[in-house]
Amino acid sequence: MPPANLLSNRVILVTGAGDGIGRVAANSFAQHGASVILLGRTEEKLEAVYDEIEQQGWPKAVVCAFDLQNNSYADYQTLAAQIEAEFGRLDGLLHNASLLGKLTTIEQYEVQLWQQVMQVNINAAFLLTKATLPLLKLSADASVVFTSSSVGRKGRAYWGAYSVAKFATEGLMQVLADELEGTSTIRVNSINPGATRTAMRAKAYPGENPLDNPLPEAIMSAYLYLMGPDSKEVNGQAVDAQNYSRKI
Ligand code: NDP
Repeated sequence: MPPANLLSNRVILVTGAGDGIGRVAANSFAQHGASVILLGRTEEKLEAVYDEIEQQGWPKAVVCAFDLQNNSYADYQTLAAQIEAEFGRLDGLLHNASLLGKLTTIEQYEVQLWQQVMQVNINAAFLLTKATLPLLKLSADASVVFTSSSVGRKGRAYWGAYSVAKFATEGLMQVLADELEGTSTIRVNSINPGATRTAMRAKAYPGENPLDNPLPEAIMSAYLYLMGPDSKEVNGQAVDAQNYSRKI
């Protein structure tokens, strides 16, 4: 069991914080003492998470309505400047937001949808990382976590842009981790949640009984570990969250 103050005084940005795994991760980080910046595209969902955190009496969160698909790099820089003005640094960055796209062949894949999925799932992670790196460098113990998938570690037919973007996510993680190794206090890793009961999973596997998959709450140990001080020496690793899961 991680201590209640595991993440106290840390400022952590979570993308896709309004729903699914991101929502539960944001709550979990706040529960363990972090000030969480809730980034997502649907403001009402973010406000609901903000309220959940406030009602529990955990450190106040910040709502950040931000579209990872359509914003320019200048918008990402403005976002980083706002975080710097409010907090002065960033201790954690969870790249969680993603689009599933469509399950179809490469031959049939619609070009515009391919570009949207690549924009949200990998280009946005690059843009946000690049814009916030100066803030992460100001932290004494910063952690960047990218979200992968089993189809980002072994290709599978019909998973199209989603799979390819997840491979690129692993690549971005490895390149950045190697660059920062020994030259900064920032560690960089990826996490594969594994099959988890969310809207995205239901869309990808409509024939599946959702109750067969664990809730996001069951996989939070790995997220807390990677964000907390115990993983200080862990860098460049591809982690499987369900190896740390608990029954719920
Ligand atoms: P959900 O679809 O439930 O949540 C994804 C979140 O990303 C939503 O909050 C969504 O916002 C947000 N998002 C999507 N597009 C944008 C955008 N343009 N700008 C800002 N935010 C955006 O997914 P999961 O919780 O299931 O997945 C979380 C992560 O885990 C993803 O990276 C996914 O690939 C990965 N994963 C999930 C697995 C699973 O079984 N669930 C398995 C393996 C990997 P909104 O709420 O407004 O739609």
